[in-house]
Amino acid sequence: MKEVLLNEKLSAEVGSIYETMEADYDVVAKKLKFSCNGCPDNCCDSYFQHHTYTEWAYLFQGFRAQSEAKQQEIMKRAQQYILDCEAAESRDERPQVMCPLNEEGRCILYKNRLMVCRTHGVPASMRRPDGQILNFPGCFRCQEIVSRKFVHESEAPQMERTPLLQRLVAVERELMGDKIHLLPRVKLTIAEMLIQGPPATATPHCERPGIKPGV
Ligand code: SF4
Ligand code: SF4
Repeated sequence: MKEVLLNEKLSAEVGSIYETMEADYDVVAKKLKFSCNGCPDNCCDSYFQHHTYTEWAYLFQGFRAQSEAKQQEIMKRAQQYILDCEAAESRDERPQVMCPLNEEGRCILYKNRLMVCRTHGVPASMRRPDGQILNFPGCFRCQEIVSRKFVHESEAPQMERTPLLQRLVAVERELMGDKIHLLPRVKLTIAEMLIQGPPATATPHCERPGIKPGV
């Protein structure tokens, strides 16, 4: 297997996409006078799966910057997370388990956290590549604010995720190459990403030991 690594240019682009995402989020949050301060909940126990090799590789950059001892602690929590999710699913329940990267209510890989973690709170809209428009109402607290302030939720300010998603898709295409459609699709929780290790793909036939290029 060959590890999928973001080069400097692609890492910088992911960082820039995330920064823009945060800025766009803040604009909407400010308009709604919404913040996470004083929230009785912590949405890091919400169940999400993630879908790009790009975000998986970026998450691992942050994970590898942790000490050996911290990495082991995280891995233990990730294993437990997976067991707890399986137990919930076996009861036909949607899992609600604290993310293994959350310590005392805070994300320990804050700079490397994923897109869903950065956008969950405020209302948002997104056009998928197939043209379908998806609307996200925001978290329960934000929905309360929207229902107090607006007759209909469609009047509320929204974060437009489409250009950010397009940029992320462009990075994914450059990272994975033109055979991207042949690769296994990513559909993993953060814990599963950690336990599987950094993203990797099968070594191309021509790069395997003993195989000479062009033979
Ligand atoms: S996004 Fe919403 S639910 Fe999550 S911590 Fe912030 S206020 Fe609470
Ligand atoms: S990666 Fe960080 S922000 Fe995202 S769910 Fe886990 S602890 Fe929360």
